[in-house]
Amino acid sequence: MKMQDIISKAYNYYNKRNYKTYKSFPLLLSDKSLLFTNSTIAPFKPNLVNGEKIENLFLVQNCFRNHYKSDGLFGFRMLGTLGQIEKMNDIFDDSLFFLKNILKIEDKKLHIVIHKNDSDLLGYVIRRFSTSNIHFCKKDEKNYGTVWSFGEGELLTGRGLTLVIESSILNKCNHSCNVYCDCNYYFPIGNFIIIQSKMNTYVEVGIGIESIYVALLGVDYLMTPPYKEIISFLQIKKFTYQNSSKLAKYYVAGSILSSEGINPSNKKQGYVLKRIIRKIYEIILSEENYLQDIETILNEFITPKENEWGNFNKFKLQLLNNHKSYLETINKGIIQIEKDRKKNKLHTVDYYNSTLGIPVFIILKTLKNE
Ligand SMILES: [Zn+2]
Repeated sequence: MKMQDIISKAYNYYNKRNYKTYKSFPLLLSDKSLLFTNSTIAPFKPNLVNGEKIENLFLVQNCFRNHYKSDGLFGFRMLGTLGQIEKMNDIFDDSLFFLKNILKIEDKKLHIVIHKNDSDLLGYVIRRFSTSNIHFCKKDEKNYGTVWSFGEGELLTGRGLTLVIESSILNKCNHSCNVYCDCNYYFPIGNFIIIQSKMNTYVEVGIGIESIYVALLGVDYLMTPPYKEIISFLQIKKFTYQNSSKLAKYYVAGSILSSEGINPSNKKQGYVLKRIIRKIYEIILSEENYLQDIETILNEFITPKENEWGNFNKFKLQLLNNHKSYLETINKGIIQIEKDRKKNKLHTVDYYNSTLGIPVFIILKTLKNE
């Protein structure tokens, strides 16, 4: 099964159940509190804030989260349904039916993590799940947060439960392995949420397509296309595995932003793309073999065959168009460090990194070359 199959199955299913279906909205919305569309409800926020009545709706939304410091993926797709609170049971039941009967996830492998104070949600799950599959949030447990507020000073709040799948391929890491363990045996795939606006109450289901996909396959994200193909290519080019996997994530992220018409700049979304591009140069430069020859590897960079999202050709051009100015920035920085040394006025590594934009490893190298 491919990721696209999950998406087509979902559209078929929700069409038959008379949900109003939408195609993915763009990553750039006119919402000033968001840099990128980051959830299925983001495009509908204005309707919810106005308290409009929402007929049951369904969409698979392309999402992007700008966390270049963490391990997660930048771009991901969410399968989402939204409707009035009065339809809560139907909407949640439809999602469970989809997971169990269409995607064939076994009953006993599906778990719920819930806060014991969410009595409405708890009332729903105790009639549908065995008690051994219901887990209560620990107070200090960060992995399963149950309260959201949307946007700055926003008028919407949400609280919800988390759906967790047990791996069908991996084994538990030890006897005490549970839903809070980091070993990937238990895999969170999405949430059932109650959203409160000033005038109305709604329910939302958000399930990560990539999460379901890797949970069903029992592999890491990086073993799925297009990441796998990029990593194999880089390994042939003698990149370390760590650099290959980092590069794959940035390369996919950049191609997604390119496909949405974003160009590198010093503002907002353009700045995010600029940072991603620089990160890619930095990783390539950190590989000894490519220190002098970033252009060759950029030219050779592959366009993954299995690609459902993103424009790799366009992104490759952006990478090729910007590397000269990046190298100039670095050379200017090195000259500055040399000057400072002559004057006996060297600054800290952090200073050169943040003010001149030179990668830390190049600063260290320059400082060592006396
Ligand atoms: Zn474990």
